Amino acid sequence: RFKYDLPNRALVTGGNGFVGRRIVAMLLEQGCDVTVFDITKGFEDEPRVKMVVGNLVETADIAKAVEGIEVVYHVAAPHASHPPAVQFAVNVTGTRALLQASAAAGVKKFVFTSSASVVYEGENQAGVDESTPIPTASLDSYTKTKADAEALVLAANGQHGMHTAAIRPHGIFGPGDRQFFPVLVESARKGKTKYALGEGRNVADFTFVGNVAHAHLLAAEKLGRVPGVDGQAFFVTNDAPVPF
Ligand code: NAD
Repeated sequence: RFKYDLPNRALVTGGNGFVGRRIVAMLLEQGCDVTVFDITKGFEDEPRVKMVVGNLVETADIAKAVEGIEVVYHVAAPHASHPPAVQFAVNVTGTRALLQASAAAGVKKFVFTSSASVVYEGENQAGVDESTPIPTASLDSYTKTKADAEALVLAANGQHGMHTAAIRPHGIFGPGDRQFFPVLVESARKGKTKYALGEGRNVADFTFVGNVAHAHLLAAEKLGRVPGVDGQAFFVTNDAPVPF
C-alpha cells in the first residue's frame, strides 16, 4: 500500500467511470475529501463522496463542482464512439471551461487523463517517449480533441498559481472495465477471433487501471514540488501492478 502526500479536497470528473472510480477509491483510502462530477448518477451508497451530477458543457454545473476544491483529476471524456461535435464540446470546450473555473476557484493542482493515442500517426510506433511530438493531423476526433485538451491543460500550468500535468495511458484493463475485456471475451465466444491482421505478431501497450490511478495520484503529489512534473505529459504503462 502506498501513502501519498495529497491535497485533501479533490474533484474527480468522470468519477463514475472505469478509471474515475478507481481514482476515487484510492483517494478515499488516503482519507481525502472527494467530490465526483459526472453526467451519470452514482455513489448513492458512499456517504464519503459528494456527488455533483452535471455536464462538462454547462459552465454553471462546473462552477458548482469546483467550489472549495484543491486538486482536480479531470478524467471525464465521452467514449470514442460519440460524434465529433460531442467530442469537441466535452473534451475541448469543456476542458477549457473547467480550467478557467478551477483557476477562479483557487485550485492549486490539475491532473488530466490524456491518452497515448495523442502521438499516433497511423504507423507502427515502438519505444516512443515524451519527446515524440504530437502530429499536426490527427486520425480521428477522439485523438484530436484529447490532444487539444492536453495542450490546453499543459498551457494552463503556472497561470493563477495552478500546477498542471497530463497522464497518457494506452488501453486500460482491470476490475470495473466495461469496454475492453468484456468485448474481447464476447468476440471470442462468438468465434470472431479467427482473423489476424498481418502475421499475428502485432504488439500493443496496455495499462492496468490501478497503475493509471497511481500515476494520477503521484502527479498530484509531485506537482509544484518536484522539478520536471509541472506542465508535462507522461506515458504510463505497466511494470508491476499496484496492489489494490
Ligand atoms: P468511462 O466511459 O468508463 O468513464 C468516463 C466517465 O466520464 C463516465 O462516467 C461518463 O459518464 C463521464 N462523462 C462523459 N461525458 C461527460 C460529460 N459531458 N460531463 C460529465 N461527465 C462525463 O471511460 P474510462 O475508460 O474510465 O476513461 C477515462 C479517461 O481515460 C478518459 O478521459 C479517456 O479518454 C481516458 N483513456 C481511457 C483509455 C481506456 O482504455 N479506457 C485509454 C486511454 C485514455
